[in-house]
Amino acid sequence: MLKNIRIVLVDTSHPGNIGAAARAMKNMSLRQLHLVTPQHYPHQEATSRASGADDLLNNARVAGSLDEALTGCRLVVGTSARTRSIDWPIVTPREAAAKLVQEARSGDVALVFGRERSGLTNSELDRCTFLVHIPTNEDYSSLNLGAAVQILAYEIYLAQQQDPTVKSDSQRDLATADMLQGFHEHLAQALDDIGFTDPRQSQKLLRRLRSLFQRARPDKDEINIMRGILSAMQGRKSMRR
Ligand code: SAH
Repeated sequence: MLKNIRIVLVDTSHPGNIGAAARAMKNMSLRQLHLVTPQHYPHQEATSRASGADDLLNNARVAGSLDEALTGCRLVVGTSARTRSIDWPIVTPREAAAKLVQEARSGDVALVFGRERSGLTNSELDRCTFLVHIPTNEDYSSLNLGAAVQILAYEIYLAQQQDPTVKSDSQRDLATADMLQGFHEHLAQALDDIGFTDPRQSQKLLRRLRSLFQRARPDKDEINIMRGILSAMQGRKSMRR
């Protein structure tokens, strides 16, 4: 699905930045580079900065306008070095990457980068569904173009690596408060039965074990497994609630 993600560079003045962007993209398995009216391209400096990613450069599409580069895209995300004085909705790199990867499952999407000196114009921003800003020092927020491509390409790479089969907590059948309470009572009893704890001095330990299980957020099956283990420790077959 990374093949559906276009990186679009608008009106780039330094060919070295085009090469750096190609390299950053290839490192992160992105392949589609679109160049809107690049000022010097093809160029030796682009090729040397691409350093092995020249296949991406050779396959880059040069477009005469932003609209041409965006043809067929179902989602267009712009980038901005500024947050103040901007009327468009702004998201974090992580949010933008998640959205791009999700939409790229169904078709082409684009991430658009602006000119080194002046960024994107308002009419170019109008083409974007939302903008992404890389958080920086507020007094010095403009990254080098190649560096900005690198950071966002990395976030996209991480986002697509997340295994969709790993369920979020909201999709899991979490153990309920009463199940957890029953488990902790059983745990305290079992630790006592096997002589691991002294019931008069074990409060601190039991509280730490509670906090461990709160962090883990076990589901119902996992709690049942733990209860089976506790029963076995106690020499009983099973004592499920
Ligand atoms: N003076 C310009 C800076 C442009 S920097 C301005 O104020 O807009 C060149 C390009 O790099 C930007 O158009 C954007 O695509 C990207 N970029 C630089 N810093 C960024 C940041 N902090 N967040 C997102 N994109 C950034």
